[in-house]
Amino acid sequence: MNTDRRKVVLIGTGMVGMSFAYALVNQGGVCNELVLIDVNKTRANGEAMDLNHGLAFAKSNMKIYAGEYHDCKDADIIVIAAGVAQKEGESRLDLLQRNTEVFRSIITPVIKSGFDGIFLVATNPVDIMTRVTYELSRFGASRVIGTGTSLDTARLRYLLGDYLTVDPRNIHAYVIGEHGDSEFVPFSQVMLATKPVLKIIEDERNTYSMDDMKQIEEQVRTAAYKIIEAKKATYYGIGMALARIVKAILGDENSVLTVSAKLCGEYGERNVFIGVPTIIGRNGVKEIVELDLTEEEKEKFRASVKVLNENFEGLTL
Ligand code: NAD
Repeated sequence: MNTDRRKVVLIGTGMVGMSFAYALVNQGGVCNELVLIDVNKTRANGEAMDLNHGLAFAKSNMKIYAGEYHDCKDADIIVIAAGVAQKEGESRLDLLQRNTEVFRSIITPVIKSGFDGIFLVATNPVDIMTRVTYELSRFGASRVIGTGTSLDTARLRYLLGDYLTVDPRNIHAYVIGEHGDSEFVPFSQVMLATKPVLKIIEDERNTYSMDDMKQIEEQVRTAAYKIIEAKKATYYGIGMALARIVKAILGDENSVLTVSAKLCGEYGERNVFIGVPTIIGRNGVKEIVELDLTEEEKEKFRASVKVLNENFEGLTL
């Protein structure tokens, strides 16, 4: 992989894709070349023009242009945020099948270009689409990553920080499982600094309660529905999550992020792509962190894996 030049190709220049691109430009220094690809070339061209016109105000310079699949050849990361919207009366599985066809039309030319970097997927249902990317690309599992529960985890840390009146950066907590209805918070693993939150609840019974914690978990799980109800789609948060993951990869940070990664025996599961705390560096997944879950939490995790496996098995690849 190239080390002196950092090139990212974004496929799908809709709301999520462009929120990511905008975050990259504003954060500055993450990469120095950004290529925009969309089936709607006019849109990709317009987005490239618009972003370029902001460069004079940006922290650092970047080469931004609307490109073609052959531009993927020497890219470090391909970010996929392309997808089709659910049609009226369409089932979730039918939508999944149509998005699989969209991914086939993307991944085939990407591979043909000679691309040899890392795939990062945001398209929903993200865990399944990441697994589809893995199957279609035949890349090693460490080089295929989905955004997983990274945004959900950020939401959780913010809400817990607010509840406990502590900087969210000092809250160590993860949302794990499917990015969807079966995701959950393993509360046995939630820490304020190095103090377990369950111990804080026990010590300060008059101030904090498990009921409040459960409510926070529910707020995280339903956040996307609430935002969609209010403004039809969610994009800034996921755009920033994508930028964070790209930064961790290109900066070889070895940061822990709850991305969707392939399990190879961790948590007693195999083959499934699911949101778990993962160490992310220059070569993608360095290691999956296996949390010490309680029996009840293990059961929730197994249920989430089941949902994902059932959805994947319904697909024709
Ligand atoms: P959007 O409709 O604004 O953008 C989708 C883009 O994909 C469009 O520009 C479209 O032209 C393009 N596209 C469609 N087919 C294509 C193809 N074959 N090749 C190239 N480009 C193609 O949608 P959005 O709001 O940006 O959402 C994109 C995806 O991100 C959706 O699947 C959405 O559910 C998902 N999403 C994920 C998360 C997360 O946490 N992972 C959060 C929010 C949204």
